[in-house]
Amino acid sequence: MNDLVFIGPPGAGKGTQAQRLVSKLSVPQISTGDMLRAARKAGTELGRKADEFMSRGALVPDEVVIGLVEERLELPDARTGFVLDGFPRTVPQAEALDRLLGRMGRGIAHVILLEVPDELIIERITGRRVGESSGRIYHIKYDPPPSPDRGEGGERLLVRDDDREEVVRPRQVAYAAQTAPLVAYYATKGLLRRVDGVGSVDEVTSAIFRSIGVV
Ligand code: ADP
Ligand code: AMP
Repeated sequence: MNDLVFIGPPGAGKGTQAQRLVSKLSVPQISTGDMLRAARKAGTELGRKADEFMSRGALVPDEVVIGLVEERLELPDARTGFVLDGFPRTVPQAEALDRLLGRMGRGIAHVILLEVPDELIIERITGRRVGESSGRIYHIKYDPPPSPDRGEGGERLLVRDDDREEVVRPRQVAYAAQTAPLVAYYATKGLLRRVDGVGSVDEVTSAIFRSIGVV
């Protein structure tokens, strides 16, 4: 079963690698960050509530994201697998995911931890650009778009507004305090695959495939 989870600090490359993995495995990418940004853009009540937390680099409350993921995992395209990117981010979220998958008679195959030293993270985050309609992730230097302000097909490129330095710091603090405990949580279950996230995007993709036994 291709039930995969990415964890790692903000800017480690989870979204980039998840986008590549899903095209190879033909399963959906489920990114709670993307879902919350879409809700915010649509101006829904959930989006407004989430923005109070996202704009200051804090985690959105567990019950909000757990509800989103529960609904999403029940859709038919997730039946043969999924790549979760950005969820779970707290131990209660991980426990909720275990319960949900257990009820569905399935379970996580691998949790891929992308390890990237702090000194590389800021450069990755400040150079991040996202395609306005496709959501494709670029980096101005390391994964450059066709032109500095346009992505594939001419779409506009956006800078995420939580990628400002003053918001990045609290996101890193939230990772250390609330998400890092998941490393031990999944290691104990024998699911953790540590992958060196340093190197080109292609090199990291190959390392991930090796770690999950796909060649
Ligand atoms: P996350 O989802 O973990 O926050 P992203 O996948 O959005 O991280 O990546 C953050 C930034 O780093 C993006 O601009 C992306 O293009 C870039 N990036 C991702 N992987 C690599 C890599 N292996 N080398 C250099 N830059 C990378
Ligand atoms: P990301 O796109 O994964 O970097 O997430 C961007 C922001 O969305 C985070 O800084 C949080 O505010 C929020 N968010 C995304 N996923 C979660 C989650 N699983 N739990 C809580 N907050 C989340």
